[in-house]
Amino acid sequence: MTTVLWNSQVGPRSRAMGVIKRQHCDAQGIGPAAPVSGAIACTKCKGNIKFTVQARSGLTTGRCSTAGCLTWKES
Ligand SMILES: [Zn+2]
Repeated sequence: MTTVLWNSQVGPRSRAMGVIKRQHCDAQGIGPAAPVSGAIACTKCKGNIKFTVQARSGLTTGRCSTAGCLTWKES
């Protein structure tokens, strides 16, 4: 039933999370020693995504500057 759950954010959002994790987490997904915040180019609209990465856990949050575009919070 995965096709039912699919929405237009899934591809670009997972790509954005991948970019951030490659920059700030190691190969096992372990996050940085201290929390990181920053910005990357949006993978959907080429706008500006502001993100955070939690220390150690590597969990990310992100929000595109464009209204209605990508937003996520890992937990
Ligand atoms: Zn965007």
